[in-house]
Amino acid sequence: MNFSPRGFNKNLINFAFPFRRTQNETHCCPEEHVLFQQGAIMSNQPDIIQTVTGAYQVNTYIVSCPETKACVLIDPGGDAEKILQLLRENVLQAQCILNTHGHADHILANMELKKALDVSVGMHREDVLFFSRPDIRKKSEKELGLTAPGAADRVLEDGEIIKVGTVEIQVLHTPGHTPGSVCFLVGDNLFTGDTLFVGDVGRTDLTGGSLQTLLQSIKEKILVLPKETTVWPGHNYGETPTSTLAWEMKENPYITDFILAEE
Ligand SMILES: [Zn+2]
Ligand SMILES: [Zn+2]
Repeated sequence: MNFSPRGFNKNLINFAFPFRRTQNETHCCPEEHVLFQQGAIMSNQPDIIQTVTGAYQVNTYIVSCPETKACVLIDPGGDAEKILQLLRENVLQAQCILNTHGHADHILANMELKKALDVSVGMHREDVLFFSRPDIRKKSEKELGLTAPGAADRVLEDGEIIKVGTVEIQVLHTPGHTPGSVCFLVGDNLFTGDTLFVGDVGRTDLTGGSLQTLLQSIKEKILVLPKETTVWPGHNYGETPTSTLAWEMKENPYITDFILAEE
């Protein structure tokens, strides 16, 4: 989570995207905070739904295979019924829940959806500590002002591939915001959680955070990806709901001033 004073402005979702795709179509319903992007069958380009959930306005993603309609839920931060409704409306079959990290605001609807959909919850090993170590859990919950409901039951590893129909999701361990923060790479889409926002990065002053580690993760795991990769952040703190790595490399001060300036 990030207490950026800029916050989410739902009107901004209406803006034309400077990075609008030529192949894939993107459209949105601003009043519902729902953004759709169409993928392509057999090309590892998923269908994506971005919607804002919970009191901390987390971006929840429904990433689905355009062919089989199997999907994963990334960071269900609350509003379980809204997420279930989107699954019903789009005739999608949830296969598992994936968390970009263990902060309570990103996992609030985990247990409710796990029960409703009979699916597992995946999180990186290092952030499972938020739940298995009572001292860390207490400290983190106090910092966030939220109580986290239960642990993950599937440990994610760096480099692991999760298959969803014909689509492949790759786990990239990107510690820094938390020790077990991960990004999910699906085709040319990167779900960055609180590691990278549009024009910003996640907080590193919370339990287990480190700015140096975060910048190293961005440099070594994210900036090595193709420049046209779309960034799907964990919160809408930027001027647009998504960006590209090319845009971030030009406009994100943490990247331009701390990472690229050193090269
Ligand atoms: Zn967080
Ligand atoms: Zn967050």
